[in-house]
Amino acid sequence: MKKGIYKKCLECSKDFYVAQWELKSRKYCSRKCFHKVWGRKMIAYSHKRKGIYKINSGSFKKGQTSNEKNINWKGDNVGYFGLHKWIELELGKSKDKECVYCGNNKNLQWANVSWEYKRQLDDWIPLCYWCHRKYDVNNWGAATHKFNL
Ligand SMILES: [Zn+2]
Ligand SMILES: [Zn+2]
Repeated sequence: MKKGIYKKCLECSKDFYVAQWELKSRKYCSRKCFHKVWGRKMIAYSHKRKGIYKINSGSFKKGQTSNEKNINWKGDNVGYFGLHKWIELELGKSKDKECVYCGNNKNLQWANVSWEYKRQLDDWIPLCYWCHRKYDVNNWGAATHKFNL
């Protein structure tokens, strides 16, 4: 017996069936729609953020002469951990940030917007553990695949 209801997808306005247990959490008909919305949020955020970075750039702490020297780059192929290290040097520790999605300030992680793990500052956003999981679930295994983890 079906206990759920039909809802309208917030992205494509298609009706879709929602089971009772996900009545509150489910807003989109498919992962594709969910991901589209996320992608837009992330891009909007990274645009907004660009201004902030300009102000902070060049203000490295004592002893941090050049980020490039701290990490042994192999071209763009720096590996998963190299990238995370680089992000922390450039943008600070994820734990000092706020989740761009829900505003949470606990269990923060750097998440990659494009899933291509670019060495590009606007390709990274702080997400809390839970939102990060939600985000990555759409493309689970991208990092594993790319970096042979
Ligand atoms: Zn939809
Ligand atoms: Zn969050």
